[in-house]
Amino acid sequence: MPDRNAELLAADLAARRAAYDTGIAKYHEQHPEAGPHLTRAAIANCNLCDDDGYRGLHSCDHVDRTAAAARGSALVRAQLPPRKDQHR
Ligand SMILES: [Zn+2]
Repeated sequence: MPDRNAELLAADLAARRAAYDTGIAKYHEQHPEAGPHLTRAAIANCNLCDDDGYRGLHSCDHVDRTAAAARGSALVRAQLPPRKDQHR
């Protein structure tokens, strides 16, 4: 027996994705200086975000900042006084 709710949800999702792609295409027409980070291809090529371009609760710009965050964290930690439970 076909799952009618699943069919309706799939049709709704397809319609929403089509509307999103149309909207993004229009945005890029109006803003040629904008990068391609919102396009379906950019989302598909990114390993950091989900199928909707979100990384957790935030939209993804498809840039991996793990190394930069680790360098910044190390610089901050180097400026902090030593923890009282650790002796250098
Ligand atoms: Zn991404």
